[in-house]
Amino acid sequence: MVRGVRLVILGRQGAGKGTQCMRLARHYVVPHVSTGDIFRASVKAGSEFGIQAEEYMQAGKLVPDAIVIGVVRERLCQRDAKARGFILDGFPRTADQAEALDEMLVAEGMPLDLTLDLEISEEDALTRLAARRVCSTCATIYSTARRPAIDWTCDNCGGEVVQRHDDTEEAICKRLADYNELTTPLIEWYTERHSLVQIGAYGTPDEVLTRMVRAIDARRCNEG
Ligand code: AMP
Repeated sequence: MVRGVRLVILGRQGAGKGTQCMRLARHYVVPHVSTGDIFRASVKAGSEFGIQAEEYMQAGKLVPDAIVIGVVRERLCQRDAKARGFILDGFPRTADQAEALDEMLVAEGMPLDLTLDLEISEEDALTRLAARRVCSTCATIYSTARRPAIDWTCDNCGGEVVQRHDDTEEAICKRLADYNELTTPLIEWYTERHSLVQIGAYGTPDEVLTRMVRAIDARRCNEG
């Protein structure tokens, strides 16, 4: 079996992180840890934690660091992540989250292999987000241009494919502004402390995946 991997994937909303992380997770046989998916599942389940998170999510605001860090800590301590690794999608998003992740990984003896930044312009991100549709069951991502084969029924699991509640124009603008202010500085932070590779988020999903896998495998080759 292919060797596992520990990755952080950065990138503006709409860069295709969700799609590529799902594919990378299948390629390297590791869990895809998306904080957004975890929060959406809690909202759907109606848990108390979901009720708290929903308010922030609907408004396109970040869930407080203490809550998100707790969720990620719990997830990364599960057996599959410890044994094989993980692909972190949507976390970290702030300097405090990045610091907390570093501490967690040092304490658990689980160093990152690589951080990848999926690059896309703000203008293209806006266009992609407005067209984005998501399976409400398995989170597979579609768009108005790349629809499921039958109506809005997910090709993967038969779930209903919908527009996300926070893909409204107002919430999208808030999320992109937060990304510029709070998450963009992490590119420098990861470049200084760990290895970071920037990948153009353009072309077909297969082309982007190939670029990402090449960067990851080249990094592991260099490590020996
Ligand atoms: P995403 O699917 O990554 O766009 O996340 C959807 C929403 O979940 C975000 O707009 C936030 O409200 C919340 N969220 C997800 N990840 C984080 C995070 N790392 N920090 C704070 N809030 C988050």
